[in-house]
Amino acid sequence: MDLLEYQGKQFFASYGIPVSDGEACTDVESAVATANRVGYPVVVKAQVHTGGRGKAGGVKLANNEAEAREHATNILGLDIKGHIVKVIWVEIASDIEEEYYASFTLDRSAKKYLGMLSAEGGVEIETVAEENPDAIAKIHVDPMIGLSEEACRAWVAAAKLNPAATEGAVDILMKLYNAYVDGDADLVEINPLILKPTGEVHALDAKVSLDANAIYEHPDYAQYDETQPRDERETAAHEKGLQYVGLDGTVGVIANGAGLAMSTLDVINQVGGEPANFLDIGGGANADVMAGALEVINNDPKVKSIFINIFGGITRGEEVANGIIEALARVNMNSPIVVRLDGTNAAEGRAILEPALNDMLMMEPTMLDAARKAVELVN
Ligand code: GDP
Ligand code: MN
Repeated sequence: MDLLEYQGKQFFASYGIPVSDGEACTDVESAVATANRVGYPVVVKAQVHTGGRGKAGGVKLANNEAEAREHATNILGLDIKGHIVKVIWVEIASDIEEEYYASFTLDRSAKKYLGMLSAEGGVEIETVAEENPDAIAKIHVDPMIGLSEEACRAWVAAAKLNPAATEGAVDILMKLYNAYVDGDADLVEINPLILKPTGEVHALDAKVSLDANAIYEHPDYAQYDETQPRDERETAAHEKGLQYVGLDGTVGVIANGAGLAMSTLDVINQVGGEPANFLDIGGGANADVMAGALEVINNDPKVKSIFINIFGGITRGEEVANGIIEALARVNMNSPIVVRLDGTNAAEGRAILEPALNDMLMMEPTMLDAARKAVELVN
């Protein structure tokens, strides 16, 4: 679950990390009232589930009420990379001496937590990693041992921050580590972490992703679930009980089994296509499940062809074939379908499909052939 900046700041504040006083607002008048309360200058910030808001005009400084009103009016409703701004965060502006970057995430291959700290903050960390990788100080933390203050101090020293920031940075990073572990986060990122002219260190932005599987331990996380961006296709698919993940391509995918579905995506990519989705219909390839799956894919306007990839195990070929035929009688398809049917009773299944084949329903003998056909149909 990805939090909006203001939710991330509330999450940080609950672990003692200093953030600026502010409020989330959904209309211009409450934004102006907040600005008047916290005092000028203020920063008006778009709350959307995407980064780079600054560059997109979603972060503006206001020196007085008129400017606060103007920025609030302009930012509410703004389209930032396809995300329409419905909430703005208004906070008291900070004086910045230096901008740093700090984060914790999981390094799966090392089986450890990974902390990253850089004196080059305020820009995307990917850019720093590419152009100046030595500017990122990394620390691996063994989850069984935890982060000692001593190790944290050495890490801060390695990042070569302004010495004035050392104490504040160590304090915040220890708290950030606690937030990451105790809060069951997948990612906590502060960019920029700032040093103020007064010597204080402070979180000016917050990017937090919480582990949705840990909600049972944190009932209050339910509030974040409500503000998650929804993919309409995923909502429709999940209502039908389908294991569906929306992707950006043009080849709709239906497969039985998560492993086969994933390799289907790989094969589509391999032959030069782009999958529109991941969809695992599991063992239930009956007409209801197949019709539901086809409906969801049919409603995706980007889909130009559909690849049904079935390897029968417990699910038998003739069941699948009957399911497809029955489903097609119910759903009026916009795109052609290519079927690859193999495994248990595949021959019986193919025999059922054979008479129904036409230019909207095709069959190929192998997964690779079928992927090629589906990609060819897109072009
Ligand atoms: P992002 O572009 O979505 O990452 O949004 P940020 O919250 O990181 O803000 C982008 C940039 O705006 C920061 O790197 C700062 O340079 C600037 N900025 C944000 N808040 C303040 C503030 O309170 N004072 C000043 N002077 N600059 C700010
Ligand atoms: Mn930022």
